[in-house]
Amino acid sequence: METWEKLRCMPEKQVRQLQEQRLQSFLGGEVAVRHPAYREAWQAGGAPRSPADLAKMPFTVKEDLLPPPGNPAGYLRYALEAPASAESSGGLLGKLWGKKTTESTPEKYATSQVFFSAGRTGRITPFVYSIHDVEQLRETGLRLLDVLGLTQDDTTVNAMPYLPNLCFWQIYYATVSLGATALQTGGGRILGLEKIITALENMEATTLFTTPGYAEFLLYSAIRHQVKLPDLRNIIVGYTPVPLPLVRRLEVLARMVGHPEATVKRVYYLNEAKSAWAECAPGSGYHFNPDHSFLEAVEPAAGQPGRRELVLTNLDVKGSCVVRFRTGDTVDGITYETCPSCKRSLPRLVGEVERLQDVKTVTVNGEEKILNLNSLYGLLAVEPEVMFWQAVASPAQGLGLGVSLRNKDDAPNVLPRLQERLAAELGVVPQVTAAPHRELSERLGLEKHPVEKRIIEGKL
Ligand SMILES: [Zn+2]
Repeated sequence: METWEKLRCMPEKQVRQLQEQRLQSFLGGEVAVRHPAYREAWQAGGAPRSPADLAKMPFTVKEDLLPPPGNPAGYLRYALEAPASAESSGGLLGKLWGKKTTESTPEKYATSQVFFSAGRTGRITPFVYSIHDVEQLRETGLRLLDVLGLTQDDTTVNAMPYLPNLCFWQIYYATVSLGATALQTGGGRILGLEKIITALENMEATTLFTTPGYAEFLLYSAIRHQVKLPDLRNIIVGYTPVPLPLVRRLEVLARMVGHPEATVKRVYYLNEAKSAWAECAPGSGYHFNPDHSFLEAVEPAAGQPGRRELVLTNLDVKGSCVVRFRTGDTVDGITYETCPSCKRSLPRLVGEVERLQDVKTVTVNGEEKILNLNSLYGLLAVEPEVMFWQAVASPAQGLGLGVSLRNKDDAPNVLPRLQERLAAELGVVPQVTAAPHRELSERLGLEKHPVEKRIIEGKL
């Protein structure tokens, strides 16, 4: 990887040149030689040598990465094979001349951790992080903290859910590399709400990493129990969608509980990219690592007018590796222009990140409707009477929405208004019902599941 000092102020032209060189050397030198699936696919036509070449290649989709039935190790078709030791050390001559091998020794390709992500089919996809990849999590973690404006003086509570997934481990390696005081809690399911709040209080923590749903749950609980966390000034959220209205809502809560100038910032986690990307300020766009990931923004497979699906090509990984991978996440686009907020020249993803997984098809009165349920996160964040919500998409019955209200006596006014507003936005009339706070937080599984069940499929 490039040095961060150099990369973060590199002019656009040089960033593009760097990516082109990486594409050529990594895809031609590593992937075409050591990657079973692409080596086979590129046998006739050769490896792509430029972004224009790459744009002509077929996409890789999540289902490609799944092990085929009866072959549990089949996911290794999408992982780089380690070179023979003679090859990596430049053969006998290389040894005689004392060739230095730091990047391509077979040990760097060895599996260090396996992370998983759930595909649209619900089947989990293993993704191998090699020794090299885990070493890079330290470097990309430090970059992430730099973009977020965090330093060694910050005391952090990592309440990202403990999972074999980038979301927890990126923050773990970032804080360990920085050498700052940090508590790795594993989130609500592991340590529990009470202990996480006590830790924030006793450690005088300045920074909390968690999902937006859990941040809200934690801040509401602190308000209810009249807990003050005056040092808490950075709430960093991600993993599930967090549109700007939700950032603002969390900021109001954070300032009631924590530091009077507490801010909320966002991180985007993409397991297959093997590094997470942060915004320097809400809405600035996620700064990604151009020496590590090449991104395209293409027409989504499912119809979402005006949106672009993010397509990833790894540029510097060992272990699992993807080329032109359809991520299933959409954005407005990608920009290489200097960030107006922090003046770094790193490229950015612009617009809200949405998941194609949350675009559901339901049949209402015999008519098929496509619902972009990603919009619920923003629509409900601006409803002050609503505390928690859960949406149920039923293919045959339409949409249901359970809400818990701050004051249950408001239900006769709030529910019909909510129904009308959502119907106008989504194009179908949802069934809106009120549920007690405790029941809804149980249904969401805020302390039971690694990530809350916010949008589910089922019967109404
Ligand atoms: Zn910026």
